[in-house]
Amino acid sequence: MERSIVVVGAGVFGAALARHCARGGWAVTLVEAVAPGHVRAGSGDESRIIRCGHGVDEWHARSARRAWELWHEVDPALIVACGVLWFAHGEDGWEAASERTLRELGIPCERVDPAGLFPSFAGEDVAWGLWEPEAGVLRARDATRVLTEQAVAAGASLELAAARPDGAAAMLDDGRRLEADRVVWACGAWLPALFGDVLALRITQQDVFYFGASAAWRTPGVPTWVDYDAAAYGVGDVDGRGVKVCSDVEGPPFDPDGDRVPLAAHEARARELLAARFPALAGAPLVGTRVCHYELTADTRFLVAPHPEHDGRVWLLGGGSGHGFKHGPALAEQVERWVAGAEPPDPRFALGPRTADRALRTAGSGVG
Ligand SMILES: Cc1cc2nc3c(=O)[nH]c(=O)nc-3n(C[C@H](O)[C@H](O)[C@H](O)COP(=O)(O)OP(=O)(O)OC[C@H]3O[C@@H](n4cnc5c(N)ncnc54)[C@H](O)[C@@H]3O)c2cc1C
Repeated sequence: MERSIVVVGAGVFGAALARHCARGGWAVTLVEAVAPGHVRAGSGDESRIIRCGHGVDEWHARSARRAWELWHEVDPALIVACGVLWFAHGEDGWEAASERTLRELGIPCERVDPAGLFPSFAGEDVAWGLWEPEAGVLRARDATRVLTEQAVAAGASLELAAARPDGAAAMLDDGRRLEADRVVWACGAWLPALFGDVLALRITQQDVFYFGASAAWRTPGVPTWVDYDAAAYGVGDVDGRGVKVCSDVEGPPFDPDGDRVPLAAHEARARELLAARFPALAGAPLVGTRVCHYELTADTRFLVAPHPEHDGRVWLLGGGSGHGFKHGPALAEQVERWVAGAEPPDPRFALGPRTADRALRTAGSGVG
């Protein structure tokens, strides 16, 4: 018998789930309040990194690798295969742990000297580089739209409306009430406003800065880089958008429906990071900004859990915590099995207290 599912929210989590379920024979309705990959959504920036290094954590390394395969099936053009370079500051840190895990899982990686991989580089503090040659960047906005289009092509119906919970159903702002065997709320930073009585997510302001640079800084060519200990990362110039520099330090609390104006302190840190690591770009012009937000669980592990009141019919999906994008299609495979009852959900993603060990993004997150 055909099963039905309503997925609310066409960010990467909701769109990937809708696509996977539609291809798997579910009757799918995908509800989106604005547009798939819109500018205020967590999935709405131009680029998101896809990498497998997650320190000692095997689950996320495997999930990222599975997602890498699936993104190639979705559309290889969404992937900028530029490699990801981790700046290691010693032998006992995140990079050494990632290297061990990746080697155990057979995921390509090697040690490299970062000097020479960038047109200009200052790396006195960098002991060595962990190179993930098959990692890179996803064209995130485009990818979210493509997932939605493929969901619709597989039979999903896309409803552009805002929804709110009404018992186990979804009530749309045009008055329609959607019922289904399963209703999944994948509403990103808007989950606390809808379900603040049962879940806890902290929403923080994260500003992204793009700097103008010469053709030498084009990506692919220039790799994506991550400095875990410094809580910083960046991407070369993809599609002429500019060289991207971001701090991964958690910003102040943020209202996802408010104005989006980058903070002067965030811009100053981005300029400092750029000048310190890539001296030739000191003083490069700021050519674009994007005010994003993290939706953080206490331990940066995702939230995938049944709502406590609806007997497994209503599910909450989110808590991307600044690193969720890449996992979208792989997480969708898992989530479909969990919501269908084919497998018990992973208790690490449950509602309720977390360990707060913040291990999956960068060590500096939240400590300034
Ligand atoms: C600055 C920054 C950098 C990041 N870098 C990376 C990275 O390099 N790699 C990586 O893997 N991840 C990264 N992430 C994390 C990643 O972007 C997010 O985890 C992911 O995009 C979250 O997707 P989502 O589907 O949960 O939420 P969203 O993309 O926000 O989607 C939620 C959707 O739900 C809709 N919605 C909300 N409420 C309703 C409602 N009531 N009715 C209907 N629709 C509704 C919204 O309009 C929105 O479209 C980064 C995040 C940020 C902010």
